[in-house]
Amino acid sequence: MSALLDGKALAERIKAALTEETQEFVASTGIQPCLATVLVGEDPASEVYVRSKRASCAAIGFASRHCALPSDTTQEALVALIGALNADPAVHGILVQLPLPRHLDADAIIDAIALAKDVDGFHPRSMGNLALKKAGFVSCTPAGIMRLLEESGLDPVGKRAVVIGRSAIVGLPVALLLTHAHATVTLCHSLTARADLEAAVRGADIVVAAVGVPGFVPGAWIKEGSVVIDVGINRVTDPERPKGRLVGDVEFEPAALRAGWITPVPGGVGPMTIAMLMSNTLLAAQRAAVSSTPSR
Ligand code: NAP
Repeated sequence: MSALLDGKALAERIKAALTEETQEFVASTGIQPCLATVLVGEDPASEVYVRSKRASCAAIGFASRHCALPSDTTQEALVALIGALNADPAVHGILVQLPLPRHLDADAIIDAIALAKDVDGFHPRSMGNLALKKAGFVSCTPAGIMRLLEESGLDPVGKRAVVIGRSAIVGLPVALLLTHAHATVTLCHSLTARADLEAAVRGADIVVAAVGVPGFVPGAWIKEGSVVIDVGINRVTDPERPKGRLVGDVEFEPAALRAGWITPVPGGVGPMTIAMLMSNTLLAAQRAAVSSTPSR
């Protein structure tokens, strides 16, 4: 039976350390880190995500500024709001909750965020910095996965890793970060032949599943003693729980019998994502404080 990679507990420890660091930062600079959250429309899941990000800000001692816009907001109005937040020195991080309504061009909105405030790490230049291993904001879910491995003493050097999913917010940056951490990485996607996917998973020391399909990876494929990072968050219903429950992309019970370490869903990667967002926001405020200090 595997050990649980308890992202929830680690995220709490990280947030406690950030709370202390924030107190020291505010005391020494008089600056309170501030995250601006931008929510367009009334998607219930997005509302829950934004609420929990703002609650974390409050718990750590950050300010948060919430901009709730109607679903018929125009591209011009949203770009103008981002411009105003970019120009506001009291705002250190800007988070635009995705997905945006279909009529909006999300790429252009993300492009409009000032690089220094791109705490989600989705800006193309942040992604470029990540790819080239240069300083910048690393997107929060991939950063959370790497921190979970690091804090658990699971060094990817020389390990065979498979990443399933190549989205810009999870799979692709995770594959890059694991490559930078000297794993040998196979990146699978929807056009990967099932037999190749199975062979890659069966041979992998580290499996990262970011597909969005419940139980997509059969537990029987998991190599004995390997590390399983399940990023998927899928709501499934059954007669006993008509409101549904959250499950990951990996068949948890059979995988847990084989893996050495495994993340639960919920309570694995999800809480780490928010902890990394908070960490990036404090970093943005610290960098802003340094760049606004007059040099002698
Ligand atoms: P996404 O943008 O929909 O990407 C899904 C990826 O899975 C795509 O690259 C797709 O391949 C690949 N895929 C789809 N079907 C496949 C198949 N049959 N075989 C192999 N690969 C396949 O999703 P995402 O945003 O990356 O999110 C993935 C999951 O992670 C979702 O459940 C989401 O809710 C969850 N998530 C969790 C967190 C967290 O904090 N825990 C954060 C973000 C996302 P193609 O590129 O070929 O289409």
